[in-house]
Amino acid sequence: MSTARLSAAQSESLETLVRESLAPQAQAIDREGLYPHEFLHAFGRLGGFSAAIPRAHGGQGQGLAAQIEAIALVGHACGSTAFLAWCQSACAWYLLHSSNAGPRERYLRPIAAGELLAGTGMSNAVKHLAGIERINLRGRREGDGYRVSGSLPWVSNIGEGHLIIVAAQVENDGYIMFAVPPGTPGLILHDCPDFAGLAGSGTFNVRLKDAFIPAHDVIAHPAQFKDYILRIKPGFVLTQIGIGLGIAEACLRIIRESNGALGHVNRFLDDQAGTLEAELQGLRDAAGALADLDAAARPLDILRARAHASELTLRAAQSAALHAGAKGYLMRHPAQRRLREALFVAIVTPALKHLRKEIHALEEQQAA
Ligand SMILES: Cc1cc2nc3c(=O)[nH]c(=O)nc-3n(C[C@H](O)[C@H](O)[C@H](O)COP(=O)(O)OP(=O)(O)OC[C@H]3O[C@@H](n4cnc5c(N)ncnc54)[C@H](O)[C@@H]3O)c2cc1C
Repeated sequence: MSTARLSAAQSESLETLVRESLAPQAQAIDREGLYPHEFLHAFGRLGGFSAAIPRAHGGQGQGLAAQIEAIALVGHACGSTAFLAWCQSACAWYLLHSSNAGPRERYLRPIAAGELLAGTGMSNAVKHLAGIERINLRGRREGDGYRVSGSLPWVSNIGEGHLIIVAAQVENDGYIMFAVPPGTPGLILHDCPDFAGLAGSGTFNVRLKDAFIPAHDVIAHPAQFKDYILRIKPGFVLTQIGIGLGIAEACLRIIRESNGALGHVNRFLDDQAGTLEAELQGLRDAAGALADLDAAARPLDILRARAHASELTLRAAQSAALHAGAKGYLMRHPAQRRLREALFVAIVTPALKHLRKEIHALEEQQAA
């Protein structure tokens, strides 16, 4: 796919929306669990979730590098909402790559435009395929559809009226990936325990109890699944880098602001703004270059870039908190929120430990 970055006009309109509509809500999202649905709909209307979706499907036709930039713009104000922007754009990405016209024609356009909000409950399946844990959703064939049961502990960007995309193992027959539209009989959402962050991420425990999945909601059947996962995984992993870039760039602002009064002593800290900025630029360029390639061509480089995003975001957030000093220890200070958002980048699937496991396996494979 040929790619381009966001145009100056697009960046400006997305940035204005983030500054005027999202930034004033960042505290309430973090502390009161406010879910920013108005912002998400508006961001979708401006094309913020559809940069990598071709124009023929209602998107902007710019590619993954532009989608990474759009997610990073959201992260400048709020890391939790940047994750939701990733969830929404990832669901559009899944549907774009489905060989099945049924779900693609029903859901791709409304999700890409932010009219239908959607969550991706793929962590368990992705970890299962990497040999980390058992699969939680199991199904069996029934007519031309499937009957599925099981539960997923955490799925974000969901709630009343939202769609969910998940995967299940099918009795004697590999895996399926499918959409669960709102109102599906057997779909039950439960509240999660309190999290340290991401309170406004619309995260629920999802249970499917003998839910019937008709053929027109199946994104990949067992015979399609293996190739399908290979098609979507590079984009899934690469666009998460935007969440880290957005949070880390916001941390640079905190560092520079703190240096106004405290520069004389802050200069003794590790990870100064200049060093972090240069590394962030390197990561942004590497992610953009990988996004410009055939997305499946460089799996090891993609995993390394995603791992670097986790490490760098953690370092930037810790440095911002240290630069801000005691002020940064106040719950209402952004440095405090950024620490918890940065930790999320390193634990959301693929978590840093998961990435290092996959990198290790690929390196061993290459060496053999
Ligand atoms: C605030 C928040 C929002 C999240 N949003 C989403 C989301 O939108 N979609 C999504 O798919 N995941 C979501 N997750 C899950 C996340 O992506 C990771 O799977 C989770 O953080 C655990 O990852 P880990 O690699 O550290 O696993 P570990 O914590 O090391 O896992 C240890 C064990 O815990 C159990 N476990 C942990 N995670 C899962 C899981 N996902 N499914 C089944 N069993 C599990 C398993 O027994 C596993 O072996 C969210 C998590 C949090 C905290």
